Amino acid sequence: MSAATTPDPENLGPGRPVLFRHGTVLTMDDSHTVLRDADVLVIGERVEAVGHNLSAPDDALVIDATGGIVMPGMIDTHRHLWQTAMRGYGADWTLTQYFVWYYLEWGKIFRPEDIHAGNLLSAIEALDAGVTTLVDWSHGLRTIDHADAALDALESVPGRHVFAYGNIQAAPWEWSASPDFRDFVTRRLHGKGDMLGFQLAFDVTGDPAFPEKAAFEAARDLGAPVTTHAGVWGATNDDGIRLMHEHGFMTPSTIYVHAATLTPDSYNRIAATGGSVSISTESEQSAGQGYPPSWRLRRHGIPASLSMDTSVWWSGDLFSAMRSTLSADRSREHLEAHARTETVTHCVLRAEDVVDWATRGGAKALGLDSVTGSLQPGRKADVILIKNDQNPAMFPLLNPYGHVVFQAQRADVHTVLVNGRVVKHDHHLVNIDLTPARQAVGDTVDYLMTTMGEEAWTTGMNPEVPKVTVHDNPYTYTDWSAAGSD
Ligand SMILES: [Zn+2]
Repeated sequence: MSAATTPDPENLGPGRPVLFRHGTVLTMDDSHTVLRDADVLVIGERVEAVGHNLSAPDDALVIDATGGIVMPGMIDTHRHLWQTAMRGYGADWTLTQYFVWYYLEWGKIFRPEDIHAGNLLSAIEALDAGVTTLVDWSHGLRTIDHADAALDALESVPGRHVFAYGNIQAAPWEWSASPDFRDFVTRRLHGKGDMLGFQLAFDVTGDPAFPEKAAFEAARDLGAPVTTHAGVWGATNDDGIRLMHEHGFMTPSTIYVHAATLTPDSYNRIAATGGSVSISTESEQSAGQGYPPSWRLRRHGIPASLSMDTSVWWSGDLFSAMRSTLSADRSREHLEAHARTETVTHCVLRAEDVVDWATRGGAKALGLDSVTGSLQPGRKADVILIKNDQNPAMFPLLNPYGHVVFQAQRADVHTVLVNGRVVKHDHHLVNIDLTPARQAVGDTVDYLMTTMGEEAWTTGMNPEVPKVTVHDNPYTYTDWSAAGSD
């Protein structure tokens, strides 16, 4: 784009009213009201009005939303932002290789500045992709300096964040009890309002002695919800859920990440105590935590939200989360029907449902549904416009939910508001410079390559392909082989 189209930051300052004009508006209110050729007016931090032919204050920035979709900013309820410094490095990993690399071998060499670099890039990336609320599942916090660095990065980016404090290098019952940690919470997390929330992030191993009890008690003392990887094949299972339940630590604010390999008993306990599940479909499919559980959650009436988990594999946008989740759910339904020699004639899960999970579902999971996740007068103005007149896939716009899920991409995010502030406009980030993030991540990559050594770096990124015999010719009556006769 030419320099002439770059938005002038002077004209997009915080506090200026914004009017989206002539868009298709997905309100994501209780009735999922959809308005065609409609307007959304933002004044200050809040949505002032949603409707037709709204009049704008004289000083309003009027954005032509014709041909576009105006909807709430998306909400990611589980992302390890620090790992974005290693973007794409683990594309061919399994969960085992991820555990070995981060938990056992190399996570411990990350310095505070490396955590800062990943967080900075990831938080910026989220805004660019229309993700306005982001849970930083920050489990690389080996020291309080790491935690300060992680939070410094979040606070330098104008997104709405929830800081989920964690540390995979130490026992949760130890770090959550340390005076340093308590001091950090008091110093940096208390009283930050709805722009910076706080959770405790740790997993429950299923040890019958339930040593995690002390960490749950710490969370309760601090008034912080717990987010936990639960139902992860080979790592966490029904025992953890049962222990949490028996000790009274399953609450409506608890978020169960993945919840992919649990039995009906555990889903019943989650449903009965009102918690929600964060589905990371691309992660579950590729890393192997279990089959993405949306199909089971529906049957148990468990609320869902969506997440991207880690950009060491996947990009940090929820378009791919919505698309993969809907596809995985339908794939499961078809396969199960085929196993019964039946045919699915009607889809149960709809595009509208996964748009809900990516917006108001996330807000509900985080206890922020009176703040964000829908476009209604009085809600904070976390608003995105999906519009790209240069993209042939953006017309005709017939089924707006379907268009968001199966047609649109992150490059189609035209405008993003967080808390009423324009952070992206006309496809450009506003007052956000990528240069420091690029420099910081470059420094981190250089440091890691040097520290690990070239061989470890290369083999880490290129895990061996297991040696298996592939029978490309199971027919005994011919020697012909697709791979050739040798
Ligand atoms: Zn995770």
